[in-house]
Amino acid sequence: MTQGFPGTMPNAYQPGKGNLPPEDEALVARRARALGPAYRLFYETPVHLVRGDGVWLYDTAGKAYLDTYNNVASVGHCHPHVVAATARQSAIFASHTRYLHEGVLTYAERLLAHFPAELSHVMFTCTGSEANDLAFRIARAHTGGTGFIVTENAYHGVTYAIAGMSPSLGAGVDLGEHVRVVPAPRSGADTGAEFAAGVQAAIREMQRHGIKPAALIVDTVFSSDGVFTDPAGFLQPAVQAIRAAGGLFIADEVQPGFGRTGAAMWGFQRHGLMPDMVSLGKPMGNGYPVAGLVIQPQVIEAFGSKARYFNTFGGNAVAAATALAVLEVVENEQLMDNARNVGAAFAEGLRGLAKDHAALGELRAVGLFLGQDIVDDAGQPDATRASQIVNRLREEGVLISATGPKGHVLKIRPPLVFSHDNVAFFLDRLERVLSSV
Ligand code: PMP
Repeated sequence: MTQGFPGTMPNAYQPGKGNLPPEDEALVARRARALGPAYRLFYETPVHLVRGDGVWLYDTAGKAYLDTYNNVASVGHCHPHVVAATARQSAIFASHTRYLHEGVLTYAERLLAHFPAELSHVMFTCTGSEANDLAFRIARAHTGGTGFIVTENAYHGVTYAIAGMSPSLGAGVDLGEHVRVVPAPRSGADTGAEFAAGVQAAIREMQRHGIKPAALIVDTVFSSDGVFTDPAGFLQPAVQAIRAAGGLFIADEVQPGFGRTGAAMWGFQRHGLMPDMVSLGKPMGNGYPVAGLVIQPQVIEAFGSKARYFNTFGGNAVAAATALAVLEVVENEQLMDNARNVGAAFAEGLRGLAKDHAALGELRAVGLFLGQDIVDDAGQPDATRASQIVNRLREEGVLISATGPKGHVLKIRPPLVFSHDNVAFFLDRLERVLSSV
């Protein structure tokens, strides 16, 4: 449950509270009229963006914001190599996977080359939600089970089944009847054993109710739970537990995938795991909606023999061309190495700042994925202070957000092209803000 943020999220705009210019006030009203009540805007004073370039975003007044939060524009906003590939393919042919076309196969082969040999099929979707929804159906078909295990503040997507496996959506969404929630990993002496004990308890509870486990699904950096990355390998006992109970392990790589951890292309590799299925999304198309599910062949046999799969836009020729261009940038610009090097400097800089600023509590980080706890003077989680920092940084031209069940974790997740200079800029602005909250 997202305590304190039912149906909303940390740092959401609240009508009447911000400091909006009249033209943006009018836009907010237009949004409410046209889009209805379920949408949320970031920040007390929402940002009205019109342009992006690399790690920078620009608002209507031309003010620049350092994007320190965007794992979609992973190779940088509007990367010319990606934009050119999208434009080129849209001008030639834009259709789906029911016609023979080399583009989707070239991409599939190039993508699968980044996976262990066991994970040898890929199916395409448009969103991470659809990828997880497909994994949900395949897991049920393969295992004959119906029980799914997720962490307490997990987010896996928006379809009916997957929203029902996303407790971070809060009180407005019912969890699925066969979904069991386990405590998120905790930093400490025995992260792996503790996490596995939660999974085992959930399995036993399911079995007592006659529910056969189908799968454990986790975001391998636990981003919505507050970012839990270490020690590498801690996930292994939990995965052994679900397998021993006949269930599958699904690695949700929508957040850490495509090199963000700096240690490997995929978060599960840091844990020395071999998932049955891997869901991909966000950074895959750098803004173009392309996502997918990578699968071990024996896992899809049952589903493939009974169901046929078609997703009109999933893996269309433009999606494939765009995603291939993104992969080329990740490879050619060595963005995984950049994530590792710049991420290490980023973590070091934050630890340095923490010496002078008691508000900075524990930092959990891997590559360019950082979760910085914000605490009060007694060292307790402080969501109010975290929200102040997020909103003050926005005024200073830096975009981040807060996450975790208590909303007190700064989620820092910049595009992978982030540089050492960008880190210095961020730390300078954060220091300014910390001196004022
Ligand atoms: N899984 C995780 C871990 C995510 O963070 C998200 C999106 N925030 C999704 C799945 C769903 O992806 P999409 O929004 O593309 O449906």
